[in-house]
Amino acid sequence: MTVALRPTSLSEALDALGANGAVAVAGCTDLMVVDHAPARAHATVVDLSRLPELRGVREDSGGLWIGAATTFAELRESKLVRERFPIVAEMAGTIGALQIQNRATVGGNIANASPAGDSLPVWMALDAEVEIAGRSGSRRVPYDEMHRAYRETALAPGELIVGLRLPAADEALEQRFRKVGTRAAQAISKVVVALAARVHGDELHGLRIAAGSVAPTPVRLRAAEALVEGQPLTPDLAAAAGLAAAREVTPIDDVRSTADYRRFVLARTVRRMLLACQGGEA
Ligand SMILES: Cc1cc2nc3c(=O)[nH]c(=O)nc-3n(C[C@H](O)[C@H](O)[C@H](O)COP(=O)(O)OP(=O)(O)OC[C@H]3O[C@@H](n4cnc5c(N)ncnc54)[C@H](O)[C@@H]3O)c2cc1C
Repeated sequence: MTVALRPTSLSEALDALGANGAVAVAGCTDLMVVDHAPARAHATVVDLSRLPELRGVREDSGGLWIGAATTFAELRESKLVRERFPIVAEMAGTIGALQIQNRATVGGNIANASPAGDSLPVWMALDAEVEIAGRSGSRRVPYDEMHRAYRETALAPGELIVGLRLPAADEALEQRFRKVGTRAAQAISKVVVALAARVHGDELHGLRIAAGSVAPTPVRLRAAEALVEGQPLTPDLAAAAGLAAAREVTPIDDVRSTADYRRFVLARTVRRMLLACQGGEA
């Protein structure tokens, strides 16, 4: 028989997760699909929805702190998020459809660690830090180190994602997001890309480009970044960066797309996103 626990504090939840076979549940939009009935599949289900420590979006040293139990609907509607990190709101509006956005959480998307998780490249491009808590204390992990292998994260057993910290964004921070799927809603990505950079004249500085659905984990497109960083951005350079991006990923053929198509689309998407930073082709 399954026990469903509804802790009201983080420490209570962490104690509950210490039990054998206990599993954390947030919006349950991934767990329900995997298990159909998590109540049958797990000995103890620990509901994270009543933990104040995991909730809210607030200013944090010029940047933002986003609680792990924040839903994508909350992100989509947040004034702070829309003003500071428009690509976060944009991404949130592409997760499933409205019903999914009302339940699905930031922490669930990260911990589920699907290579097609739409928020993951966004956190990577924005240089986020993940706040993690366990019974022995808390720690912070740079987002670049969060996804270690296919569906494997930096979380140790019994640990929880508490929230994310996004470093300060000023007006010079150019942010771009593009999801390519079969249709506008309720589509899992064939390719998803996020980009952040500071624009100085015709150059991009501190460029971070990350992509999903093109490798076993979300990936930084470091070869493309290195080509463009600090150079006058021309259409030829943007095209070369797109091709470099296509060469540095390892997509697969699956039910949603083919590896060749994913490479082709990635090259075009990166080229267009770079040019869009300078008001060019979007
Ligand atoms: C119809 C449909 C459409 C979807 N469309 C999209 C889409 O377009 N893009 C996309 O990226 N995803 C999509 N998803 C997947 C899913 O909605 C997201 O991954 C969602 O963010 C999962 O969050 P959740 O709160 O529902 O997670 P849950 O299902 O509650 O949990 C998922 C996993 O994360 C763990 N977990 C949850 N919270 C925490 C935490 N704070 N700390 C540690 N571990 C935690 C759970 O133990 C579990 O292993 C879709 C799902 C469905 C059913």
